[in-house]
Amino acid sequence: MAGVTFEHVTKQFGDVKAVNDLNLDIKDKEFLVLVGPSGCGKTTALRLLAGLEEISSGNILIGDRVVNDVAPKDRDIAMVFQSYALYPHMSVYDNMAFGLRLRKTPKTEIDRRVKEAAAILGIDALLQRKPKQLSGGQRQRVALGRAIVREPKVFLMDEPLSNLDAKLRVQTRTEISKLHQRLETTFIYVTHDQTEAMTMGTRIAVMNFGVLQQLDTPQHLYDFPANKFVAGFIGSPAMNFFDAKVAGTAADLWIDAGSFKIAAPADSKDKLAAMIGKEITLGIRPEDIHDREYVPGSMNTSPVTVQVDVMEPMGAEIYLYLLSGKSSFVARVDPRSQGRPGKTMDVAVNLDHIHVFDKQTEIAIR
Ligand code: ATP
Repeated sequence: MAGVTFEHVTKQFGDVKAVNDLNLDIKDKEFLVLVGPSGCGKTTALRLLAGLEEISSGNILIGDRVVNDVAPKDRDIAMVFQSYALYPHMSVYDNMAFGLRLRKTPKTEIDRRVKEAAAILGIDALLQRKPKQLSGGQRQRVALGRAIVREPKVFLMDEPLSNLDAKLRVQTRTEISKLHQRLETTFIYVTHDQTEAMTMGTRIAVMNFGVLQQLDTPQHLYDFPANKFVAGFIGSPAMNFFDAKVAGTAADLWIDAGSFKIAAPADSKDKLAAMIGKEITLGIRPEDIHDREYVPGSMNTSPVTVQVDVMEPMGAEIYLYLLSGKSSFVARVDPRSQGRPGKTMDVAVNLDHIHVFDKQTEIAIR
């Protein structure tokens, strides 16, 4: 078991900085998820840690040891890839035993570890099968088993669920979380899927263009995104953004989004009062826009009149795609809502949860 540290790590491929001055302190036994859009550098970061790519500058530490020049096989890590990369001609047992045999692990020890891993993963009955006789989910479990038998200090996983269908993905996601609890080892998991990140990570590192945007717990990331990119990336449906201006006077302060205005939230009045006339980006999550008929509890809201464009009933809630002037946005409202396409209705914005970003830097102001 060990923590992992990235110290000012940069990886350059020609002109592209795939990873740009990455600083990350991953704690022992943590489940850290690296998440971001395609090309943001998350796989490169993992490959640098695994020793499959050479660092351009900076240091990577596993525990207290700088591993920049340590061969991949000596780093005490195990990696699970998106493609299971099983040997087709070998049985499940032999696939799992292969790495240990290469290391000249005694036969009885190999047998103990393979059987233990197979029991943890529920694949005991499959040990004599060949990979082609397995389902996708079972193959992924064998790939996990091959990593477990190594008893590594750190598990690295690169999109291990992306070849599974939606239902199996959710199921395997839970299994990997349980595996983490059971093994009590550091897991570093790469995905582009924000739902996977939110549900699995003890902390999440959001990357964009090779740069770490925010490192935080799932809930804190969701509630307090550090910038517009993180705010838009985490959450589904995504946060709505509006070009807006701080307007009014210090005593009567508004956020003017052109087609509608909302009262400035009381807790940020001082900050916003200093910005009267300035352009900002207003961010409102879909669940913070309610049908005015069904506002839960005593919420501090501001009303907005909107036109309903599209309605999507989801059972427990309704997604309403709304129009107000030039703005289009989505709300997750109570399933009793009577909002229907073509109708005009009033919605209520929860002022305590609105987000405000600097228009130029996109850094969160509130
Ligand atoms: P994806 O989810 O699509 O795998 P990613 O976030 O994992 O994306 P990386 O694979 O780390 O992104 O790639 C980061 C950047 O580095 C991209 O611009 C990519 O084109 C570039 N890159 C990655 N590997 C190489 C390479 N071997 N040679 C040149 N450029 C590379």
